[in-house]
Amino acid sequence: MTLIDPTSKQLQDTLSELKHKEEEDQAKELAEKLELPYINLVIAPISPNDLLILDKEKAQKGNLLVMKKVGKILHLAVKDPNNPQTQEVIKEFQEQGFECKFFIVSSTSLENGWAKYKLALTPQKDAPIWGVFDIKKEDSDKIKDSLKTVQDIQKEIKNLSTSQLLSLILIGSIKMEASDVHLEPEKDKIRIRYRIDGLLQDIAEFPVKEYHFLVSRIKTLSDMIINITDISQDGRFTAKFNGKTVDLRVSVLPSNYGESIVMRLLSISTIKLNLDELGIRPELFETIKSQINRPNGMILVTGPTGSGKTTTLYSCINYINKPGNKIITVEDPVEYRLKGITQTPISHRKGQTFAKSLKSIVRQDPDVLMLGEIRDQESAEIAIEFALTGHIVFSTIHTNEAAGAIPRLFGMKISPDSLASSLNLIIAQRLVRKLCPDCKEKYKASPEIVEAMKKILSSISRKSGLKIPEKIPQLYKAKGCEKCHGLGYKGRLGVFELLTVDDEIKKIILTKIASFEIQDKAQKQGMITLIQDAVLRVIEGITSLDEVERIVGSIKLAEK
Ligand SMILES: [Zn+2]
Repeated sequence: MTLIDPTSKQLQDTLSELKHKEEEDQAKELAEKLELPYINLVIAPISPNDLLILDKEKAQKGNLLVMKKVGKILHLAVKDPNNPQTQEVIKEFQEQGFECKFFIVSSTSLENGWAKYKLALTPQKDAPIWGVFDIKKEDSDKIKDSLKTVQDIQKEIKNLSTSQLLSLILIGSIKMEASDVHLEPEKDKIRIRYRIDGLLQDIAEFPVKEYHFLVSRIKTLSDMIINITDISQDGRFTAKFNGKTVDLRVSVLPSNYGESIVMRLLSISTIKLNLDELGIRPELFETIKSQINRPNGMILVTGPTGSGKTTTLYSCINYINKPGNKIITVEDPVEYRLKGITQTPISHRKGQTFAKSLKSIVRQDPDVLMLGEIRDQESAEIAIEFALTGHIVFSTIHTNEAAGAIPRLFGMKISPDSLASSLNLIIAQRLVRKLCPDCKEKYKASPEIVEAMKKILSSISRKSGLKIPEKIPQLYKAKGCEKCHGLGYKGRLGVFELLTVDDEIKKIILTKIASFEIQDKAQKQGMITLIQDAVLRVIEGITSLDEVERIVGSIKLAEK
């Protein structure tokens, strides 16, 4: 045990924390007695504009303040609603036609709230509508140095006060280049998971009793209603860290054991917009380039959610983004801003308005249209009509294989004629994690695996122009080191299947034949399938067999 200097800041802090806790407990007790919600104004949001509804003098005299105004309802923070002076102010509000909602707070809470008058009265330029979480330098220094691998977070989490917990979670996610942070309450613990390179990783666990404070803090920052816990809420806040800012989109969802939280790190979800950085083989890259340089036609990207479709679309658009090309995108929602391109957010949820807005956008006469997703007959018709009238159209459609897009569009009542004349290229893709080059481990694959891989590659046509390896001497697997935070993988790579709609494929489309025959024909014409591309990446040592099987399924079960 270490001795604490009685004059130390740490001790002073602990003492005032204790005193504060006692005060808050009393407020909680009163709230319970009166059956009113309790709130802590040190962490709860106060709207500066609404605070000014009641002037400071009156607020102090009446022992209350206005936290928020929602229509004709005032959210009031009060120490005791039965206090005569408080009642006087309430009566005044009611006479003005306001309905009052009470939240019980402590004296410290009120003092804190009143201090915000000063802030509210000073005009602020460009004040963000959401909160800013400033990660203190001493916290970040302390945490940063101790975080080398994912496992370190679990060790560190036990040594932190509640207030440092959020800093740790955020710094960890930034350092490990996570795209999302998940906080999931379970029966007796809270689980933290990060999404890194598309995969959720268990990061740490912490006790349930800390969670309440953390949730309140995050909800406050994201401008959500704290004491409502049974509906989902969305919000956003900014974290400041080492002079950098990271925007977080937050979603809170009620679950069995409390509210679960997902935070998406918007500035971290880096997007590479160069076609040649997507991991497309040079041979396939040439195909894409020649297709997107054509004067008209439709290019579709298929794949499940999270397979990198949007990135590919953006990269294609970026490639043809030259002066003289008018490009309009229609997205739900706009995820990344692109320079020199008109991006239109349209919500699919609004039904009717979607098709209507889409039609009016098409009248803006762009040369290139990117439609976020073809999901119904109406959007399919607009996209195809546009492609048939001398424009380039990019879109995504939800199917597994490239060939699957064709029957899918037939299902949307698109005629074989229109489809055959409008479709240029279908790209199916998946993302696989790349092995960490610093720690990947060589091993000799079993004869069965080698056999299965060879079988998959055997159907690659010579027309593909690819060199197929004859021997598979060794493969690589994931290990884990400091550079990859102990995960064994670092970054991701796209695997692709490109179905070029040439004359042969057009003929098949016109006969409205099943997708496997299209697939078969396309392979004979030189198409490499997703699984073939993936297996080649395993042989090249860029990814592992485990990773490929996670994405495309067992290679022993693959037919071709
Ligand atoms: Zn490594």
